[in-house]
Amino acid sequence: MTDATPAYTKPLPALEGLSKEFYDWCRQGELRFQRCRDCAAWRHVPREMCAGCGSWHWEWARSSGRGSIFTWTVVARALHPAFAADVPVAPVVVEMDEGVRVLSTLVDCPPGALEIGMPVVVCFDAVTPEITLPRFRRAG
Ligand SMILES: [Zn+2]
Repeated sequence: MTDATPAYTKPLPALEGLSKEFYDWCRQGELRFQRCRDCAAWRHVPREMCAGCGSWHWEWARSSGRGSIFTWTVVARALHPAFAADVPVAPVVVEMDEGVRVLSTLVDCPPGALEIGMPVVVCFDAVTPEITLPRFRRAG
């Protein structure tokens, strides 16, 4: 008996440096962002220095996983063959309750039903043994 699940063929994030650390947390089922140890500012995407105060001291702090739709666009024609079966698809920018913004997709909402400010909560999509992507579903 063979595994009927097709291989994941879409582009994947590079597991390097701070990006690897971010995705390692996702693989453990935790959405974490960097938070400055000096001014407490959250930040994403991962980077070494705080843009607010210039500090190099930070930690991976656990997110509530909750946020809302900040904006989206509808992609009608796939720009990569691996996405051809997904269109139309709506990449969304989620503004997390912590203030950082994350580019992702919703698992349970067609593009026509999206609304600015719609509350969402993170869920995790283990697309390969090494990579788990943070995605979102409608909250409450
Ligand atoms: Zn800071």
